[in-house]
Amino acid sequence: MRALVLGSGLAGITAAYYLRKNGLDVTVVDRAAGPARETSYANGSMITPSLADPWNSPGVFGVLLRSLGREDSAMLLRPSALPSLIGWGIAFLRNSSQRNFERNYLSNVGLVHYSQWVMRDLLQAHAFAFDHAYDGTVKIFRNSAAYDYGVKVAHFLKQAGVQHRSLDRAALLEVEPQLHAVIDEICGGIAFPGDETGNARLFCEELRRICAADGVAFRYAENVVDIATDRKRVAGLRTAKETLAADVYVLAAGSFSATWAKHLRFELPVRQAIRSACRCIVGNNAPGCRSSTIRCTRRSSRSAAYCASPVRRSSPATTPRCVPTGSRTCAICCAACIRNSPNRPRAST
Ligand SMILES: Cc1cc2nc3c(=O)[nH]c(=O)nc-3n(C[C@H](O)[C@H](O)[C@H](O)COP(=O)(O)OP(=O)(O)OC[C@H]3O[C@@H](n4cnc5c(N)ncnc54)[C@H](O)[C@@H]3O)c2cc1C
Repeated sequence: MRALVLGSGLAGITAAYYLRKNGLDVTVVDRAAGPARETSYANGSMITPSLADPWNSPGVFGVLLRSLGREDSAMLLRPSALPSLIGWGIAFLRNSSQRNFERNYLSNVGLVHYSQWVMRDLLQAHAFAFDHAYDGTVKIFRNSAAYDYGVKVAHFLKQAGVQHRSLDRAALLEVEPQLHAVIDEICGGIAFPGDETGNARLFCEELRRICAADGVAFRYAENVVDIATDRKRVAGLRTAKETLAADVYVLAAGSFSATWAKHLRFELPVRQAIRSACRCIVGNNAPGCRSSTIRCTRRSSRSAAYCASPVRRSSPATTPRCVPTGSRTCAICCAACIRNSPNRPRAST
């Protein structure tokens, strides 16, 4: 049986791996020059049950209203996007009730735990390097209101098996000595030992290599321009060069999948969005920069905005460097760079 996978990001390559494992002849098609060149390129690298909360937390309606016209909002809704969001937006808001939010949050945690379990299985079969670390993560808080909310959420997550440990400043410094430079501005932290981190792009590149060695064909730089159908069934993927046919098709084109799904007359409730991560953009190494060990993501929800810092020890051989991860608002930076950045975060993180 032949399978065609459209897209070679995290979803496409992983699907290709498991399809091959189940004995199918698999071909992956992607318009990019290599694996993980779009969403999977520079994600936050977090495999974190502690951060599985849906975006539509209670109060999100107000947050979105306030974001209208404010390009620097953590969560931004542009008026021009409103017409395309009408049906989807109503469902999004309906799910922001406290009850639905909590239910969805716990479902997401279950999904992350399942992902971690599958990943372990995969890594047992093929040990490959992608900056994977089981170090856990630490959320840090600048004020007591945000900290109290963080503790409340951490207790809520216990029922789904997410463990945590509250940290005062001294304990925080033990976990991450580099916070020394900014410790006076932090009121406490919470450690989540079950969280993991890893580089999504490297993961895709390595898994692609494993898949290719196992006979999966990869066709890069081939844009799928149409999906041919025959009596409501997919008949092939049309590229500029030819029509590729298979017995099974996997749509893994990221946010573009929704457009293709519409073309195939089924509704995929996915919309494109960008979530703001860190707004302290660090271009150059700050004086005192030691290594890129802290990934800082700022989130703003109804009552909490916080800094999450998955701590990863970089090897001594690594040249210390603070680098933007590729997205406009996301940066990997160390505490010294946050401190010295002209754009350091000022919100109640
Ligand atoms: C800033 C940011 C931070 C994130 N942080 C995290 C995180 O910390 N943890 C986490 O779990 N998730 C995170 N995510 C989400 C995660 O990165 C995505 O869910 C994941 O990468 C999606 O993978 P995908 O394979 O579905 O899509 P993509 O990686 O976008 O892959 C889709 C592929 O389809 C190809 N394609 C599309 N259309 C066509 C076409 N017509 N013809 C041929 N090829 C086509 C594209 O070239 C692309 O390679 C983050 C996302 C962003 C944007």
